[in-house]
Amino acid sequence: MSVYKVLITEHIAEAGIELLKSQPDIEVTYEPELFRDFEKILEIIPEYDALITRSGTPVTEELLERAKRLKVVGRAGVGVDNIDLNAASRRGILVVNAPTGNTLAATEHTMGMMIAAARLIPYAHKSLKEERKWERKKFMGVELAGKTLGIIGFGRIGSRVGIRAKAFDMKVIAYDPYIKREKAERLGVELVDDLEELLRRSDIITVHTPLTEETKNMITKKEIEKMKDGVIILNIARGGIINEKDLYDALVSGKVRAAAVDVFSKEPATDNILLDAPNIIVTPHIGANTYESQTNVAVIIANQVLAALRGEEVEFAVNAPYEDTAAAKVLKPFMDLAEKLGLFAVQVACSRSKEIVLEFRGEISEDTKPLTTAFLKGFLQKMVDIPVNLINAPFLAKEKGISIVEVKRPEGINFKKLIRVTCKSESGEFSIAGTVMDEKFPKIVEINGFLFDLTPEGKLLLIKNFDVPGVIGKLGSILGRYNVNIAGFQLGRMEKGKEAKGVILVDDDVPPEAIGEIKGIPEILEVKQINL
Ligand code: NAD
Repeated sequence: MSVYKVLITEHIAEAGIELLKSQPDIEVTYEPELFRDFEKILEIIPEYDALITRSGTPVTEELLERAKRLKVVGRAGVGVDNIDLNAASRRGILVVNAPTGNTLAATEHTMGMMIAAARLIPYAHKSLKEERKWERKKFMGVELAGKTLGIIGFGRIGSRVGIRAKAFDMKVIAYDPYIKREKAERLGVELVDDLEELLRRSDIITVHTPLTEETKNMITKKEIEKMKDGVIILNIARGGIINEKDLYDALVSGKVRAAAVDVFSKEPATDNILLDAPNIIVTPHIGANTYESQTNVAVIIANQVLAALRGEEVEFAVNAPYEDTAAAKVLKPFMDLAEKLGLFAVQVACSRSKEIVLEFRGEISEDTKPLTTAFLKGFLQKMVDIPVNLINAPFLAKEKGISIVEVKRPEGINFKKLIRVTCKSESGEFSIAGTVMDEKFPKIVEINGFLFDLTPEGKLLLIKNFDVPGVIGKLGSILGRYNVNIAGFQLGRMEKGKEAKGVILVDDDVPPEAIGEIKGIPEILEVKQINL
């Protein structure tokens, strides 16, 4: 039996260490202060098969270069900023983390912050304890019961906050374009289809999304203006989702009654503008700080590291060290295409589909795993803040309730090689197909049975319309009025005068007001902006 040596360079909870020590094939070195002595780590790392850290150990290229036996790095927690993922991947070293261990801790912190903000508890505490004042009238609060809580991001934490808020007799609504309607319905929560509706209806708003390109600055002055006067806002998710200056201004003006924030755009945040705002309750990113969550995290990471060392399946892989194979290189342009198809599909209604069918035609049907993963990468890209890879893609998809059915057909039809995506959603069936031209250039060749020749790049408007004269002119004049430049236009139609699908390539984002006007054109049946 081979024995694996595991080095732990930071504090992790006892339960995780015990779990590792109890394994006959594991030898543990637990040096919780070693992260302070990088030179020492460099010196001893060559003997170890696994390294477990938190955020304090810099797992750099230099360290990985010396770590000749290292097979896995376990991050006891979530963020992997301290780990050079590319350098690890290049050396075939797997990086795993423990994203689920903190869920309850962050959920309960959110509830605590919600009540603290509604009743201004820390301010009353400070007035009595530190200033020795008995100010009963000053601290008038609002009750949670009967209020509407708007949850943005209804994942692990958001949904648990929802369940608890219902126990407080709150009405709970949620906005999350990437979850199935049934998930919310099952929990008695109303899923709203646009953010604006949530902003308008909620008395208290809490964000629980990852920080992605789409969620960064999701709440700015513009969104706050749409909220009720006296709204309460919480951010226990990630700094930067809510614009800090705009929240500060809204607290000063009184538009926002109170706010509670655990996370900041730059941490440590000892001079953040929000610290000077009135009626704000702040904590120094302690959402995950409970004994229980630290135990969960330690046990999860110990199990992940064990699985990796023994060559078993791991659930929370952050990188995919074996992705860069020769086969993957040949498939690369098709992987790019599959990723774009995923990105396209998630922006039409496929994110709510029970099942997505991926059809692979021609030679590419022989090795579909990298293609399906690439599709999921595009599909999940907007929902998660970690890289999607061959190892974690199936787990992430399962967790999000995305079910993929692969259909492999060795023979080509119009195109020798083709990928077609089909999904059923609330608004009907959607399908999109693509191929690669000259072995290099991904092309979308079909949308809902209509033929196209589109390079999947940039911004476009997907429209469904009646094929009658004048529609394009009306569309063009609306876009012109909003200063949106048209870069190209393609129409796909089956028969003259019937329904058609159009794609308008645009250089700029189309403002929601312009989309609203386009929807008002009688011949237009549907319109959607897609960013690729
Ligand atoms: P999760 O992945 O389970 O849930 C996130 C949800 O956000 C998903 O359902 C996803 O579909 C949704 N989402 C993604 N993009 C969206 C968008 N543009 N609009 C609306 N919804 C969107 O994650 P989780 O475990 O619930 O964590 C939520 C957040 O809390 C993360 O940012 C995480 O880093 C943070 N967190 C903070 C602490 C802390 O110490 N304060 C602790 C744990 C987690």
